[in-house]
Amino acid sequence: MKFGGSSVADGEHIRHVAEIVSQQRSLGDEIVVVTSALGGVTDSLIGVAKRLSRVEDELKILETTIRLRDQHTQAARDAIGDSEIVANVEDVITLRMDELEKALIGVSHLGELTDRTLDYITSFGERLAAPILAGAISTLGTEAIAFTGGEIGLITDKNFQNATPLSYAEKRIKETLLRDISRYIPVVTGFIGETEKGVITTLGRGGSDYSATIIGAAIDADEIWLWKDTSGIMSADPRIVPDARKIPVISYVEAMELSYFGAEVLHSRSMEPVIRKKIPLRVKNTFKPDELGTLVIEKPEKVDDVVKAITVIRECALVNISGFGMVGVPGVAAEVFGALARKNVNIMMISQGSSERAISILVDRKDLKKAISALDSCFPNIKKEIVHTDGVSALAIVGAGMAGTPGVAGRIFSALGSNQINVIMISQGSSEYNISMVVSEVDIEHAVRVIHAEFGLGEKAVC
Ligand code: ASP
Ligand code: MG
Repeated sequence: MKFGGSSVADGEHIRHVAEIVSQQRSLGDEIVVVTSALGGVTDSLIGVAKRLSRVEDELKILETTIRLRDQHTQAARDAIGDSEIVANVEDVITLRMDELEKALIGVSHLGELTDRTLDYITSFGERLAAPILAGAISTLGTEAIAFTGGEIGLITDKNFQNATPLSYAEKRIKETLLRDISRYIPVVTGFIGETEKGVITTLGRGGSDYSATIIGAAIDADEIWLWKDTSGIMSADPRIVPDARKIPVISYVEAMELSYFGAEVLHSRSMEPVIRKKIPLRVKNTFKPDELGTLVIEKPEKVDDVVKAITVIRECALVNISGFGMVGVPGVAAEVFGALARKNVNIMMISQGSSERAISILVDRKDLKKAISALDSCFPNIKKEIVHTDGVSALAIVGAGMAGTPGVAGRIFSALGSNQINVIMISQGSSEYNISMVVSEVDIEHAVRVIHAEFGLGEKAVC
């Protein structure tokens, strides 16, 4: 069971989470708990670290450590009944705050923030949360012990900010966790791992999901439950589409398409371990624990509505590279993609018409400058033109039922057309699980609502 930041937002919430865990435990299930940082803490650590790398600000360091210490001490007092446990957890909090203070002073003096240091600094969120949650569970009668990712064997590569577990990590996790799982509940920090040398790494923002699925796969869990503050995976972002509906069952591939494409509900790499081990995944709402949530399983399920969900990536930029010299020349695409990869630019969508005169590439807006300079360096001997547009967003329409169903694209584009929404770029993989397109930023919300309604995905729709 993994609990997200808003599920463990403060002491009262943590107590509620502890009750969920111990109730499930009393039904006879053995459980490993994975926790995020208290809601907002990761963001605030990142904000402070970045600020200190720009300006020396001793007051900020003091203010941050005091605020975090008070917040976590208060949470521990509210969540944990047993005063001896509270005292132990407070000792841990004090120790952590000393370490954090040193790290922040270092950043501030050096005026430099490496990815490695940022990983260390952000790890404090989870490393403060786990002991509090473990204490709260212990108070309710089942012993619980807090561990960091590294302590249970979540050993990763050195790709700080976006680390990946090494091949033997799962074996080690299994050995560590299963040894004593009948005696106590391990409460593991989400989001963080450790290199072979013991340096803390993180798995990327929202990485606690990924921690949970890595651990679930490692111990061959019967199920993995991700507890969040939403009722499950939704047909669209309810902030955009007020009548968006919860999806009861969805396949791994569909969930993966959605998470890759900006749906905030799952960390994008978190599906890989469950797919490999075919472990059912459930997204559940901490605040409505009796609801079933969304079940994510292997078999794509064909539904009457071929489209299941729509998701959006905002703040994208489109770069177009064109030139007659590119026509019919082998290796053009390789050079373009190679140049972008060398500059670490992630490509979100591509399209090339069969005239081969132009390649269009969608990137994150903050990568735009790097992308342009990478493309500038391509084909020094060919006359080329590079143009870009940065006020665009992308949307993906996902559903396993689209595969082999004629007319889906037709319906999408007619609906957009009759609402005067211009489509700038389109792409569909041959898996047919996903049709993606780029529209102007100003049209994006309207586009999502139009397609959502066209396929009857809303609350009022019968399914
Ligand atoms: N605390 C980390 C974050 O906010 C990891 C997580 O919550 O999953 O990104
Ligand atoms: Mg979080």
